[in-house]
Amino acid sequence: MRITRYAATLAALGLALAGCSSNAGNQAQDTSAQSTSAVETNVSFAPGTTMAKLHDAGTITVGTKIDQPGFGLLNPRTKVPEGFDVEIAKIVAGKLGIAPESIKWTETVSANRESFIQNGQVDYVVATYTINDARKQLVDFAGPYYEAGQDIMVANGNPLKIESPDDLAGKNVCSVEGSTPAQNIRDHYPQAKLTLFDVYSKCADALDNGQVDAVTTDNVILTGLVAGSPDKRELVGKPFTQEPYGIGLKKGDTEFRNFINDVLEESFTDGSWAAAWDRTAGKITGQKAPEPPQVNRY
Ligand code: GLU
Repeated sequence: MRITRYAATLAALGLALAGCSSNAGNQAQDTSAQSTSAVETNVSFAPGTTMAKLHDAGTITVGTKIDQPGFGLLNPRTKVPEGFDVEIAKIVAGKLGIAPESIKWTETVSANRESFIQNGQVDYVVATYTINDARKQLVDFAGPYYEAGQDIMVANGNPLKIESPDDLAGKNVCSVEGSTPAQNIRDHYPQAKLTLFDVYSKCADALDNGQVDAVTTDNVILTGLVAGSPDKRELVGKPFTQEPYGIGLKKGDTEFRNFINDVLEESFTDGSWAAAWDRTAGKITGQKAPEPPQVNRY
């Protein structure tokens, strides 16, 4: 199993693998998405702030996904994840004076993002992470920096004619534990038969081998999974929720949240956000960078 070899190498490199992601469907695209994010060389922060601590440490630990093409996908050659989330994390690190090479990447799966933030295992999480009130009880969010929507992926040709979540009644549907799409199915489409894994690449495998009839999560995640196997998979393409992506950080660290919000707004106007999109998710989706969302300083 290739992932085992990756895991060993990654462990050697200090990249912590929290879950064991399936590698299937994520053929190394090796886009070698080079970061062009600027690294500040002459910054200082008020003593005692998280920004000062991270800047002084010169290194940072970021939680991201590693099996989601376009947003966070491990490059098996460099052993470093690539994607829009990864680029957003680098933009924030750069404003702290931390170079991409000094970022320690940790896989966060959907279900452990809050606990990794709360326990201090990561300094922040950029991982297709929807901002919502339930999660805000446990962590804080900067952003949003992108807005996705829940969608459905089916086998190529859509043999069961699944066009909307109502069509999932009685069908075997795969999603991921701890995710908003899984919760939405439980709450509003209880007749769907839900299979839950820890990561979406396992759902894609389950669709390919006929174990499930459909996979549901955010449209951009599914688009990346379809791009890896267009002969096998198809996106329904009718999003039915709003999933504003935020950067998760420790609850109550308002200075750090304000700082990240400032960085995001700057990236929206200075072109770095759109450039990050174009060299990552834009390549997978074939879409130009959309209008950036409005940051919500709640
Ligand atoms: N954005 C949704 C969430 O945060 C689905 C994607 C994911 O599980 O990362 O739950």
